[in-house]
Amino acid sequence: MSKLPNTPTSIFSIMSQLANKHGAINLSQGFPNFPVDERLLNITKNLIGKNVHQYTPMNGLPSLLENIASLTFKNYKRKVNIASEMLITAGATQGIYTVINSFVKNNDEVIILDPSYDSYEPSVLVAGGKPVRISLNDDYSPNFNRIEDAITKNTKLIIINNPHNPTGKIWKESEFQALESLLEKHDRVLLLSDEVYEYISFSHPHISINTRPKLRDKAIVASSFGKSLHVTGWKVGYLIAPEKLMLEIKKIHQFLVFSISSLSQHAISEYLDIVDFNEIEKMYVSKRTLFQNLLKNSKFELLPCEGTYFQVVNYKQISTKGDMDFAKELIVKHGVAAIPISVFYKDSTDKQMLRFCFAKTDETLIAAAEKLVKI
Ligand code: PMP
Ligand code: GLN
Repeated sequence: MSKLPNTPTSIFSIMSQLANKHGAINLSQGFPNFPVDERLLNITKNLIGKNVHQYTPMNGLPSLLENIASLTFKNYKRKVNIASEMLITAGATQGIYTVINSFVKNNDEVIILDPSYDSYEPSVLVAGGKPVRISLNDDYSPNFNRIEDAITKNTKLIIINNPHNPTGKIWKESEFQALESLLEKHDRVLLLSDEVYEYISFSHPHISINTRPKLRDKAIVASSFGKSLHVTGWKVGYLIAPEKLMLEIKKIHQFLVFSISSLSQHAISEYLDIVDFNEIEKMYVSKRTLFQNLLKNSKFELLPCEGTYFQVVNYKQISTKGDMDFAKELIVKHGVAAIPISVFYKDSTDKQMLRFCFAKTDETLIAAAEKLVKI
């Protein structure tokens, strides 16, 4: 009877609930705990009494669409047609779900690269499609031989995520070139590029599909202001896609949400006039450095973190337990919550690793690290 008989409650809900229950410091679910920029709060306060409370146009508030188009041109030199190539969504989650349900039909296959974000597979299953989950290499780079071997006549879509949740990996130029060659050869296959952490990169710059003329024609790019502006609860994201794809996406979007929160769209639209994304990235550079330095003398081994606000660690020196059990023990015995990495794999591959979110106040990171170094 169930459409998703084997889909559990999202790990993010489970771990945040456990953290609350045991009073643990919550470095599990990815959301900031520092205050929202006061300028954004003031903009919102000033808007409350104005005429901003009715439906916006279905594809989004025109001024927000224009500001996103300017941002996309400034950062990626892509000229986006506001009327036909852009859509404001209720977070990236709804954008991704809508894209998948716009193109995937019964028995269509969707290639997903593991470890993968938890919303991809259920969205494919609801559409009646078949998720085909391929492991990334051991260093979390894409394995194009494996991906190509997985392509069949039924393959409709490949989903990529860059910078990558949970591993923090960022693809290199050569990997985008390999993707271009692959999709030139298999030209019916569409690409969904989840770029919600596009403004958080450390070791080398994030390369957006918005900058790849060879891919843009067959690609949908998903972004999220929740991630970029520290307002995850506002659930404002957007999609960019060529008109022929966007027409199909809008057909579903109009009956799923029609339009999203008008107040949030107005506020973000005004805020985009003044916010500096370089400052946001700088703040995360310093949080990553702080957290990494704090954990230097712990028994946790830190993996490279090239982007996102997640630090993956290996705890082999501490315990032989599986990552789910260890994550629970960490909450109950040591008072810190993290996300076990095995949940991001179809076959629950367990390499004894956890993901910590460092989008937290320095005080929170210091308090968590004090507990972690004692283990
Ligand atoms: N994709 C990835 C990789 C994510 O980490 C998240 C979580 N924010 C989302 C999509 C969903 O974003 P939103 O909160 O805007 O729905
Ligand atoms: N994207 C966030 C994370 O990875 C969680 C989003 C959610 O809770 N659905 O932690």
